[in-house]
Amino acid sequence: MPEYRGLDRAGHLERIRGGHFQVLVIGGGITGAGIAWDCALRGLSVALLERTDFAAGTSSVSSKMVHAGLRYMVNDPQLVAEASAERRRLLASGPHLAWPVEFLLPAYADTPEYDAAALPGVLARYDQGHDNTAAGRMLDPARVQAEMPLLRRNPLAVGSYWDGMMDDARLTLEVIHSAARAGAAVANHAPVTGLLENDSGRVVGARFRDEDPAAEPGEYQVTADAVVSAAGVYTDLLLGLAGREEPVLRPSKGIHLVFRSEATGGKALVLPVGGNVLYFLVPFRPGYLAMGCTDTDYPADSYGRLDRVPTTEEEVHFTLGLLERVMPGVFGPAEVVACYAGVRPLLAPPGERSLSESATSRTHRIWQARGGIWAVAGGKYTTFRLMAEQLVDRVAEDLRSRSPGLRLAPCTTARQAYHGAPMEGFQAWSGREAERLALLADLPADCCRHLCRAYGTAAVEVAALVREDPALGGRIVSGRPFVRAEIRYAAEREMCRSAADFLVRRTQLRFLEHQGLDALEAVVEGLGDRLGWSAELRRRQAADYRDYLRQVTPSFR
Ligand SMILES: Cc1cc2nc3c(=O)[nH]c(=O)nc-3n(C[C@H](O)[C@H](O)[C@H](O)COP(=O)(O)OP(=O)(O)OC[C@H]3O[C@@H](n4cnc5c(N)ncnc54)[C@H](O)[C@@H]3O)c2cc1C
Repeated sequence: MPEYRGLDRAGHLERIRGGHFQVLVIGGGITGAGIAWDCALRGLSVALLERTDFAAGTSSVSSKMVHAGLRYMVNDPQLVAEASAERRRLLASGPHLAWPVEFLLPAYADTPEYDAAALPGVLARYDQGHDNTAAGRMLDPARVQAEMPLLRRNPLAVGSYWDGMMDDARLTLEVIHSAARAGAAVANHAPVTGLLENDSGRVVGARFRDEDPAAEPGEYQVTADAVVSAAGVYTDLLLGLAGREEPVLRPSKGIHLVFRSEATGGKALVLPVGGNVLYFLVPFRPGYLAMGCTDTDYPADSYGRLDRVPTTEEEVHFTLGLLERVMPGVFGPAEVVACYAGVRPLLAPPGERSLSESATSRTHRIWQARGGIWAVAGGKYTTFRLMAEQLVDRVAEDLRSRSPGLRLAPCTTARQAYHGAPMEGFQAWSGREAERLALLADLPADCCRHLCRAYGTAAVEVAALVREDPALGGRIVSGRPFVRAEIRYAAEREMCRSAADFLVRRTQLRFLEHQGLDALEAVVEGLGDRLGWSAELRRRQAADYRDYLRQVTPSFR
């Protein structure tokens, strides 16, 4: 196999424009990425088109937990069993971007589902038959409080169990890389605007636009034996292009608040708030905690509103109020450094409208929509690989029935590592690799550790850019480990085409203090130089990022 050189957007688009593939995937979130990867590994020719950027939908604004789902044991035990197996696989396949984390669950008398009497049973059920990193156990509440003084309201008991955390956007990107390395053609900023049908009404391809901000706008088409919708919350809108009108989804919005704090010592805190509802305070990257999340209906009636989901002032105060109950006086509006919102692509089976949002099932569904287009919706980030496997099984069966000679390899994604994954334990590998990078590119230790975490084995490619041009070793923002070479790497090898692509998804700067504004100028200049942006386009890119932040962030202080 030729050496993999990353994602060259022009080359990939060249293959897709006017091309024919066995499978065309619409949507480049984690679900579409997983499908393209699985198809390519089985030997199917596959193209993927993403409307905005890879992971720009829900897959960059999740709670970032790799979890089986403690609270789903009540309504969805099958989902928890599947998700626990997938959690183990995900943690093993991408150890640079996903890692096990201990979750502490304090019990109070006013949350009976998770009170001191119920907790041992809850933890035992979460372990039973599930492949957890370590067994759940009860801790001494006084000791937990001494270690974690922010837990100001005295818990009656504290349980401990293990799930994981991840960098959701970069993980999607690694699966996109994995798909491309296996032969998939992929393109971001390429929205599908219409579906192509043959004389008998079967969907045989799609029309799409090239919306690279620097490109001449153009409309193209691509044909395929099977078309797959992995459009997440946009599923109803996309299937509308195929003439389907009855909605399949019940989208539900969730918001998160971000704090600059290390007060949980790398652990996550679970906050039962009554009923079977849990909130989480999670360490999503060193020095930062995210608190989430709400679960409220979010009618999906326009593309525009789903693109930039706002967090409202009311939601911020509601979430802070929940925190106040268990840690009074710790986090107020002044401590919120960022907030973000996302919409879950949950299924709405007929008759379930009476259920509350939080009781709506997280299971997924795969079906063949009118006109021969396949669709997948629902599910969780953690279960994406399984969803992809099941969908590709169905599509492969259909393709074989129409081409009896077609021979395909079986699904192998359960035992494959993602692009960038080191072949040994992450801690041991990254310790050695960070030292090697420091020698290679004369970079400070914190930058080298960051590069290992973000890019895994591809960190050496970023470091090689610094060795070539030492100016690229400069920090993008002082005091943070991100270096200028990452901008060049993102533009040349990761299809980064806008300031938001870089600040929200190639890095997590948007979720940190200053929400990426402190890096904006350097990022626009760096991308502009690599991608040949005019002065006017640079100005528009900076303005567009500021607009985006204004639209999604409330003024709550
Ligand atoms: C607040 C919140 C918290 C969550 N927390 C967790 C968690 O901690 N753990 C977990 O496992 N799961 C979690 N989830 C669920 C998880 O994030 C989603 O299930 C998952 O990200 C969905 O991925 P997807 O690829 O199906 O959808 P998306 O990521 O939305 O991808 C769909 C893509 O399709 C593209 N698209 C749409 N229309 C078109 C078109 N016409 N042409 C081309 N492309 C198109 C969109 O631009 C989008 O990028 C959470 C969800 C939310 C909202």
